Amino acid sequence: MVFACNANQTLTILNEPSRPERFILSSIRYETELHHEAVVHFDSSILPDNEMKPLPTRSNHIEHSGGRPDNYEITYIMHNQQPWARQSDKPCLVTYNPRSFINEGRALKRRSFQHIVHDVRHVSLLINVFRFIQGQKRTWHCGAHTLVNSQETCFVSGLATARQSGADYPFADPAAKRSFNYYGSIMYGSRFRRA
Ligand SMILES: Cc1cc2nc3c(=O)[nH]c(=O)nc-3n(C[C@H](O)[C@H](O)[C@H](O)COP(=O)(O)OP(=O)(O)OC[C@H]3O[C@@H](n4cnc5c(N)ncnc54)[C@H](O)[C@@H]3O)c2cc1C
Repeated sequence: MVFACNANQTLTILNEPSRPERFILSSIRYETELHHEAVVHFDSSILPDNEMKPLPTRSNHIEHSGGRPDNYEITYIMHNQQPWARQSDKPCLVTYNPRSFINEGRALKRRSFQHIVHDVRHVSLLINVFRFIQGQKRTWHCGAHTLVNSQETCFVSGLATARQSGADYPFADPAAKRSFNYYGSIMYGSRFRRA
């Protein structure tokens, strides 16, 4: 079985986790105060109306608030990023970690999620010990908590886990293969089945 969900979800699903599984999975931390909500909306009053002209020209807009350096609100201005988002006559905005007022009548969807705390401990310790629980009792792990928190590396972590549990590597591109081997080795060490 491959667990591709957050570590805390894995821990609730696993039947009788071993001590190393319990230690490693419960050591992964998720942000609880900030960075756990995103809103899809068309309330352009959230953007400044100044010489930067974010609404018609920018791909995103960032506002800091409070004392924490990572307390920032980002509005992704999707109609300036993606062709599909230009099909509507309304602005297409996604505000991450909302701090400004967003008119509920202009909000289409609110989503909450857990954002991993990607700190020195995670990178220097936890990533390196995951290999000791991989494949134990026929369970495997992939996703942001097993590598680095980005779309590409999370995808590669899934490919590497499939490879390590016996699958073929499916792509021909040499640069992609190099990246796959690099990240696979970080996850699985010298035992990684390189492509
Ligand atoms: C708002 C935002 C913007 C981002 N922007 C970027 C960016 O620009 N570039 C970039 O590289 N990265 C970006 N990231 C980070 C990137 O999206 C994540 O690192 C990546 O999606 C994590 O992948 P994952 O597979 O680990 O987890 P997820 O993509 O979260 O997938 C986990 C899946 O498990 C499912 N799941 C959870 N619990 C269970 C359960 N009990 N049973 C079954 N399924 C379950 C969930 O529904 C989810 O589909 C962004 C993240 C956020 C939140």
